[in-house]
Amino acid sequence: MIAFHNTLTSRQEPFAPLRPGEVGLYTCGPTVYDFPHIGNFRAYVFEDLLKRFLRASGFRVLHVMNITDVDDKTIRGAEAKGVPLDEYTAPYIEAFFEGIRALRIVPADHYPRATRFIPEMVEIIQGLLEKGYAYGKDGSVYFRIARFPEYGKLSKIRPEDLQATARVEARLEADEYEKDSPRDFALWKAAKPGEPAWDTAIGRGRPGWHIECSAMSTNLLGPAFDIHCGGVDNIFPHHENEIAQSEAFFGHPFVGTWLHCHHLIVDGEKMSKSKGNQYTLRDLVGGRGLDPAVLRYFLLSTHYRRVLNFTFEAIDQSASALRRLRDFVYELEHRSLPPGRTGEAEPIAAEAQAKFLEGLGDDLNVSAALTALFELVRAGHGLLMDEKLAADDAASLVASVYSMDEVLAVLPPRGEEPLPEDLRGKVEERERARKARDWPLADRLRRELLEAGVVLEDTKDGVRWKIRARTGSG
Ligand code: AMP
Ligand code: ZN
Repeated sequence: MIAFHNTLTSRQEPFAPLRPGEVGLYTCGPTVYDFPHIGNFRAYVFEDLLKRFLRASGFRVLHVMNITDVDDKTIRGAEAKGVPLDEYTAPYIEAFFEGIRALRIVPADHYPRATRFIPEMVEIIQGLLEKGYAYGKDGSVYFRIARFPEYGKLSKIRPEDLQATARVEARLEADEYEKDSPRDFALWKAAKPGEPAWDTAIGRGRPGWHIECSAMSTNLLGPAFDIHCGGVDNIFPHHENEIAQSEAFFGHPFVGTWLHCHHLIVDGEKMSKSKGNQYTLRDLVGGRGLDPAVLRYFLLSTHYRRVLNFTFEAIDQSASALRRLRDFVYELEHRSLPPGRTGEAEPIAAEAQAKFLEGLGDDLNVSAALTALFELVRAGHGLLMDEKLAADDAASLVASVYSMDEVLAVLPPRGEEPLPEDLRGKVEERERARKARDWPLADRLRRELLEAGVVLEDTKDGVRWKIRARTGSG
């Protein structure tokens, strides 16, 4: 059974998609006004774990992730730089996709860009105006919260409390425009000098942020779909407003299950540029040489509804867990074992796989899933030490680990062989030597690696290696 904690009902519920076997998934994508930070990637890796798990459980997943390329922040940024919006957002969009690739996130089926969906947004806003859920004022259009009695059902923030707390005030700040009630939010903002604007049936202007996601999700996934994700900061007002707009327009429930991941913090503190603790992927992977697989492991190994604290010690722990896993696979693949099978491995592999999926089915309990995986490593290692494994047993264990890795995606893709720690260290050392143009050292390391059976190939994507022969470790 698969069950998820649904933010809408505040309960863990059995998951059943609208169409058997198929899941419509919408995940809020980046606002491309800056380089994505590792907090953003926590959200994207959590969503990838969810999607890969659903696929491993036999569902087909249709996944849409938007790119918010017009909103207050992108407009402000473009204005400050004096460049057109598309030119301003381009490098951030590129960095987002670079991160998606580096962290081995399965690409979405669609990455709609808000600026390319203006007519679809206008259509919904027109419908809301006709039905009396929206009103125009000074060229802008607002959603009248008082007309939607269920407002607040996701965030549990009641409309009457909307102005009550500083937290809410801060969130509403971005929407400071003239409106009937301060609680109402903008669907459409009248054109202002210096801002990008579109000429439409509802006037010249640009969309509010929330309508973007309602239009892109329902156009690509249909007016009702299964799962909508984001970080907890999206719950209010963004997702609350998406529900109000979409359900008022379509007249029926919008999304079945809402899943929100908690935030990533750094050294126990909220990330912020001023504190200098806001890491981008480029800082960590390009700058500090962190293995993206280690980062991915770190990001997914804490349950999504818990705060994740980024520290370099925690990264070291992830690195050593991952090393154990890689070395285990390496051992099994390279040690010479007698042919045939003893039958000792099969039940271990089967139990691990079953517990792995069972754990993830319990609201993505990744700790239970990883415990199952490492139990296989421990037991497999024991069999290896006791010489109770034959070649086919080892192959079953490796196959089982790789089937779990279809969900985790932290092992090198099959065929690209994992290297034991010391050799991996040498490959990295040679890379550094090459960058520093220390050719004698780079050549010496290449020769040493060759002697250990590792052939290096320098490609435009960086160095790749092949194991020429058994490396003598088995
Ligand atoms: P944004 O680019 O701000 O629109 O955010 C993109 C996604 O990242 C959204 O799902 C946010 O909820 C999520 N997000 C932003 N900051 C963090 C954080 N510190 N930890 C986890 N998720 C975050
Ligand atoms: Zn969104």
